[in-house]
Amino acid sequence: MTEKRIYNFNPGPATLPLPVLEEMQKEMLNYQESGMSVMEISHRSSLFDNIINDAIERTKRLLGLDDRFQVLFLQGGASLQFAMIPMNFLPDGKSADYVNTGTWSTKAIKEAEIQNKSHHVVASSEDRDFAYIPKNIGFNKDAAFVHITSNNTIKGTQWHEFPDTGDVPIISDMSSDIFSRQLDIDKFGMIYGGAQKNIGPSGICMAIIRDDMFKLIPAGIPSMLDYNTFLKKNSLYNTPPTFSIYTVQLVLKWIEETVGGLAAMEQRNREKAETLYSYIDSSDFFRGTTDTDSRSFMNVTFRLPSEDLEKKFIEEATNSGLGGLKGHRSVGGCRASIYNAMPVEGVKALVEFMQKFEKANG
Ligand SMILES: *Cc1c(COP(=O)(O)O)cnc(C)c1O
Repeated sequence: MTEKRIYNFNPGPATLPLPVLEEMQKEMLNYQESGMSVMEISHRSSLFDNIINDAIERTKRLLGLDDRFQVLFLQGGASLQFAMIPMNFLPDGKSADYVNTGTWSTKAIKEAEIQNKSHHVVASSEDRDFAYIPKNIGFNKDAAFVHITSNNTIKGTQWHEFPDTGDVPIISDMSSDIFSRQLDIDKFGMIYGGAQKNIGPSGICMAIIRDDMFKLIPAGIPSMLDYNTFLKKNSLYNTPPTFSIYTVQLVLKWIEETVGGLAAMEQRNREKAETLYSYIDSSDFFRGTTDTDSRSFMNVTFRLPSEDLEKKFIEEATNSGLGGLKGHRSVGGCRASIYNAMPVEGVKALVEFMQKFEKANG
């Protein structure tokens, strides 16, 4: 079975670590002698308490979080966070700063707009089709928060250094690079991400929120949209997607115990990205689409000399066991998503295939 698995470069839902899938397979019919699968146990059972608490503890250890930070599991994806963030953290009389680096930031801004919440787009890279991360941004000193998207999944850009916002907390959508590298958490009031790129399957979103942020939450927010509800109930106010949380737990365990933590994870991700970019840089046939200093270590976007060749490339790659290389439907071209679970060998296989394709078609 496993020898038929492909190298899966899908942008999300994305490839999962094979050892995690194997562990799930082993435990599928009888989870820890319960006589049930994880999907069949109560979210109120001590078995599930152990799962969610272990996921939280691993998160704290991996990111080096102190007691100020709370780890929540939320539903509705990162997309619901776009709405919940201004709803909870942008009280009347305050304004928020947003940086627009592409589709996902744009969607986050739209949700502040819909709610008539005061906000400023203090920087944008739209002028060059989101091919770079803006620098030297003038932030407002009295903003409630600064919202950024740490990795722009679609265009393939990434913040490699987070901006200095003084005392204003940064809130970052980290859906496509959470747990991919070490992080100086002190700059952030909140980070969040849908699990389906780097840490699990779809259906669950992780948020890490600093204590003081909860004080900003006004009264009158519906329970399921209020971060306090999730905080008070250890993310078990309603029935969460238990199987997704279980998978996240196993992926975090894999990062911690098999990979060796976030420093090792970052090193591996760096190696993969450098392997791919250095080949693209050396080729006259393949062409990167973003500024060198802004390019993403997670989503490597590139073009070929023509759209016909791109189509052929994606088709032949798929037939060679390299899947998911089509660019986002809004931008075209090619994109290799090389998240945590993509092994170094997968990237090497892709580069070999690109070399062969260039020789045959260049
Ligand atoms: C995929 C993605 C999203 C959307 O996440 P959902 O879980 O589908 O809501 C948001 N932001 C970024 C950066 C993403 O990559």
